[in-house]
Formats: sequence, C-alpha cells, structure tokens
Amino acid sequence: MTKTKTKKDKLSDKLFFSLKNCWEGIDTKTEKEIENLASSYKRFLDMGKTERECVDVICDLLEKNGFVNIETFNKTFKPGTKVYKNIRGKSVIAAVIGKKPAVEGCNILGAHLDSPRLDLKQNPLYEDSELALFDTHYYGGIKKYQWTTIPLAMHGVIVNEAGKKITIKIGEEPGDPVFTITDLLPHLAKEQMEKKASVAVEAEDLDILAGSRPYAAKSDSTDVKEVKEKVKLALLALLHEKYGIIERDFAGAEIEFVPAFKASDVGLDRSMIGAYGQDDRCCAWPALQAFLALANAVPEKTLVCYFSDKEEIGSAGNTGARSNNFENFMVLLCGGNEMALRQCFSRSSMLSSDVNAAFDPAYASVFDKKNASYIGKGIALSKYTGSGGKYGASDANAEFCAKVQAILNRNKVQWQFGALGKVDKGGGGTIALYAAHLGMDVLDCGVPILSMHSPFEVISKVDLYTTYRGYLAFLKEA
Ligand code: MN
Ligand code: MN
Repeated sequence: MTKTKTKKDKLSDKLFFSLKNCWEGIDTKTEKEIENLASSYKRFLDMGKTERECVDVICDLLEKNGFVNIETFNKTFKPGTKVYKNIRGKSVIAAVIGKKPAVEGCNILGAHLDSPRLDLKQNPLYEDSELALFDTHYYGGIKKYQWTTIPLAMHGVIVNEAGKKITIKIGEEPGDPVFTITDLLPHLAKEQMEKKASVAVEAEDLDILAGSRPYAAKSDSTDVKEVKEKVKLALLALLHEKYGIIERDFAGAEIEFVPAFKASDVGLDRSMIGAYGQDDRCCAWPALQAFLALANAVPEKTLVCYFSDKEEIGSAGNTGARSNNFENFMVLLCGGNEMALRQCFSRSSMLSSDVNAAFDPAYASVFDKKNASYIGKGIALSKYTGSGGKYGASDANAEFCAKVQAILNRNKVQWQFGALGKVDKGGGGTIALYAAHLGMDVLDCGVPILSMHSPFEVISKVDLYTTYRGYLAFLKEA
C-alpha cells in the first residue's frame, strides 16, 4: 500500500525555515494562560513605572516566595536556599541554589528595569510669563517630539538634608492632577514644521507645565507682596506643605516624568498590549515569573535572575550592569572564593532578556524582512546586536545558539530571528556584552516590540507568553 504524500514529506517543508503565527491552533487552556500572564503583566506595568518602583514590586514578590535578603542571611548555602540582593533600590539579583552549587555554573536571566523618560534637572523649577515650569534632561534614547501634549506623571525620590527619603508619585491615582509639555499650534508652526524631526522639538524645549496660579497670602504680609515669581512660590509652598521640601532639595533628587496613562489592551481582538516602559519590563516580568515558577522545588543548577538599571544610558553607574554588583553577589554564592567565582562565570549560561525591534510595515525600508522579528511569531533570538559592522556586539557563539535553539525546539517554544534593522541603518545593544565580558555564554533573547522607546510601546500577548515559556525552558534545561 502506498502512503499518501503528507505535508511533512514535502522537501521544502523539511528544509525551509518557516514560522507560524503563534495564535494559530491555540487551545482554551493556553489562551487562559496567555490572558492571565497579560493581566499580571499590565498590573506590574502600572505599579512599576520607574526602576525603583519595579524593584519594590519584585522584592515584595521575592519575599512572599520565601527569598531572604542576602544582607541578613547568616546560614550556609545549601540546595534550595533562596536569596536576593536589593542594590540601592534600583536593581535586584535573586538566586535559588540548585542541587549543583553555583561554582558548577548557573542558569541566568538578565533584564533591565529602567526605561527612557524625562528627568528633572538639579534646579528645575522656574517661572516665565506667570507660568511655572520644570526643566528636564531626557534619559535614554527618545524622539523628543513624541513627549509633548501627552499627560505626564511625576515619580521619584527626594532625600532631604536630614536624610529623610520622600517618595513622590503624582498623576497616577484617579483624580490626581497630571503634567504636560506644550507644543506649538499648527497655525504658527510653519517654521517648526520645516525643521528636521530631531530638532523640531529640542531637548531644552522639554519643559513641563507645572502651575499657573500665583501665591495668595493669607495675611497682607509685605514679604510675599514683593516676591516677583508668585506662581513658582505657590508651587514651592504646596511642595513644602505636602512633602516638607525646599527648592535646594531638588539638587540631588531623582524625579522622573513618565506618561500618566495605564497599560491597555490594543486592537479589537485585544491581542496586544500598549503601555509606557515595556522595554524592558516585558522581558523582566516573564523572566521573574519563570524564575519564581521554578523556585519552589530544588532546581538542578543554581538559577539566577538579574534586574539591572541604567541600561538605557549604557549600563554605567553603581546600579548598572557594568558595575561590580553582579560579581559582588555571585562571589557570595561561591563561598567568597574568587577562583570559584571565575569558574562559575566560565560555566554559566545567560539569556540577556531584552526586547527586539518588531517589523513595522509602516517603516519597512529600515528592516531586513528576512532577519527581522515579527509581532505574534514568538521569542526573538539575536545572535548579535551592535552597529556598523557588529561594533560593540557580544555575538554569541554558534555552540551556545544551537544549545538554546535546541532547548526551545524540545519544549515547542516558537522562536524567530531578531536583527535590529538593516545593516548600517543604526543599531543598539543590551547588557549581553557585560555578561560576555565575565566569560559566560550569553544570547540576546526577548519580546519583539513596536514603537520602541516611545511613550506608548506595543507588544503581542502571545509573544509575552512564548517568551515566558522560553525562559522557563532555558532555566530548567540549559
Ligand atoms: Mn532594552
Ligand atoms: Mn531600550
């Protein structure tokens, strides 16, 4: 009897690399899991709009899952021990000791918690034409014109002279006021509209509208009457009343302005999520979920989850991935032994869990269609990032790429390619090269995203879920 030729027997099906849309053929159970992950993720986005807020949420979850702050941990590490370190409230590293100790190599996920935004300058508050404004310095790579005429919220911390830390969050609760940056009306924008997009709105034009009502003295005191900037005075009086701060306290403060809107489903079919700060929280959240899902049983290898800060400005600074924080934590897992630490690194595997630029049909010309990642087609693997001849790329080795691909294939996790645009059209990087510097195997691997670094980035729910499953499989089997 001859067998009918099934689809699988076709030579092209056997040899070509092809991808399906991950929504195709999905069952009800999986659909529920996708929706559950999307819901918890949207809550995370709304609770964590700054790196500090994300760290608070993550540490809280770690504690609830039995993780102990390594600063207070005074026992010896044994299989199943769960510890974490909170680095200056802006970065976190957590670990579960496996049946094999850290020195034999760890499986690591590394994402970042900072996102592009507008930071206040050191002396930010001024008054012009009886309007009070905050002067900003943008953080990370933004298209400045995208940040005008949207509602903004004020988040951050001020530490006063007495050392008291004051947390500020205005514009998130229902009924809260918001802030905004004005833009020129089209009627008078003839000159502006002829400028290049990079200078149509300049960095020094990103000043935030903060008030317009002059200080009204309760009594007829002459010292207030003589003040020229009464609107500014009124705002300082409000801030002093509510937070006990004075103008010079801004000098060292960390105040970030971020979009005030909440995360939403996008599309009639609700297949996507739109929100601020998804680079890189859309990788941080599934990384944490995968890590926690494995933390309650003793894993084979020691598992580590790293959430860094300052990635958007080159990972420098004492909370960034280029600092010694990661080594300082890992050396404790290696019993304080420097040689064991070096061995641990050389035997470890890491996924640098960061977003990839999803193909956008509106801007097709800058993407390489054959090598780009696509919305709805799974977790994106980027062998290399960098720019202009792979400059600054970590460029994962073939052996490690094959190992990760095999793990994903085995677990039926659909993965796709993830090149950041056509060659010489630009470029970018992640924390992969700093991990590679320590001698470990590392590959960039995460969620494809539309409108990256804009106030409202978009991802697919099915990619978020596929990424979660990919991270889970990696932690288990790498
Ligand atoms: Mn990123
Ligand atoms: Mn980024």
